[in-house]
Amino acid sequence: MSNCVVAGINWGDEGKGRMVDLLTRDADFVIRYQGGGNAGHTVINEFGKFALHLLPSGIFRPNVINVLGNGVALDPENLWTEIEAVRAKGVRISPDNLRISDRASLLLPWHRELDGLEEARLADKKYGSTKQGIAPFYSDKYQKKTLLAGELFYPEELKQHAKDLLEWKDLTLTGVYGAEPVTFDELWSWLCEYGERIKPFVCDTEKLLREAQNAGKNLLFEAQLGSLRDLDYGIYPYTTSSNTLASYAPVGSGLPSARIDEVIGVVKAYSTCVGEGPFVCEWFGEEAETLRKAGGEYGAKTGRPRRVGPIDIVATRYGVLCQNATSIALTKLDVLSYMDRIPICAHYELDGKITDEFPFPAALGSCRPVVEYMDGWKQDISAARSWDELPENARRYVEYIEASIGCRIRYVSVGPERDAYIMR
Ligand code: GDP
Repeated sequence: MSNCVVAGINWGDEGKGRMVDLLTRDADFVIRYQGGGNAGHTVINEFGKFALHLLPSGIFRPNVINVLGNGVALDPENLWTEIEAVRAKGVRISPDNLRISDRASLLLPWHRELDGLEEARLADKKYGSTKQGIAPFYSDKYQKKTLLAGELFYPEELKQHAKDLLEWKDLTLTGVYGAEPVTFDELWSWLCEYGERIKPFVCDTEKLLREAQNAGKNLLFEAQLGSLRDLDYGIYPYTTSSNTLASYAPVGSGLPSARIDEVIGVVKAYSTCVGEGPFVCEWFGEEAETLRKAGGEYGAKTGRPRRVGPIDIVATRYGVLCQNATSIALTKLDVLSYMDRIPICAHYELDGKITDEFPFPAALGSCRPVVEYMDGWKQDISAARSWDELPENARRYVEYIEASIGCRIRYVSVGPERDAYIMR
């Protein structure tokens, strides 16, 4: 019995979906505690290939109960589309294996619209939003200006609440952005259509999880994005609008009394970053394109080419500290097999000085990467299933990262498939 969080250490897209899919083997519950449909956890298993956006990655395991906690941005329309798409591939999804917290706030259609309007206003100063409405949603949540999933059970109160919100939101849509107002009929018919669909899944997940913890069940908390995108500790303002850290899992999951026994931090064997913002170790040109192609680094949600570079030890060490990781899963080691020598961003140079401390966000733009190299292994490692089967230079690379980030690397992933990993 244990409570385990699987969280990203870097900028997201580290391969968390693939690790959670693997680790759900031992889980009774898999819980998403923050974020919304703006990311894509890629999972490849016997049902096919999936980019999960909001559904927890435990959805493929027949005995796992999946929970969307109160901390998520619950977009009923997108969730429904995703449920239908995953069901179409033969995966069973019902209120038996998917529960939604009655305290989860609803992401409403105007959140998506406002995201697009604000990105258009920002033009070349945009933050690189995925336009899923996440930032407007969280702003409204903390202003107490959205609806809770549990209100679907109180139609009269819901109607009045929705009317009040609409009156306020239309002021912003029309007055600030010059957009069309939303009518009550539009909002109400959307709420009736998608609200009714998700209603059977909505329940008191606090009680559910409290009882599960008391009964000694294994709870696995699944984070979205990574440490450097955390609203408070990341590269603000190029962060997401929620807390991606493991320490938020108890609050966002609906189990404020959760004890966290283990945090498995997911690190990619090189760096990738989607969207705008400082990215010290970034590569450009041909070497970037080669790595991007080798790793298939195109956004799971947007298809956007990801920015790439060597592993960034300074950022990764900081990410490990922020997550309080107890062990690491290193993914995509196989992608580096083509390289003659493996680059490592070992330190930063800031104002002429070498530093190992991750700086304040505003200073990141002035940092230069200090790159060191290790010999490559130049052979396919995707069939390796034990530590001894890895070439010596690959083992040395893993050991180097482990020593420099100060956390045990327990899993080494060498392919996207469920069994393509090495346990140390
Ligand atoms: P997540 O959001 O953190 O789950 O990451 P993404 O799903 O965006 O990106 C991970 C991508 O890498 C997916 O396409 C996975 O199938 C793939 N992947 C994960 N682990 C490995 C690995 O060890 N090797 C290879 N070659 N691909 C991997």
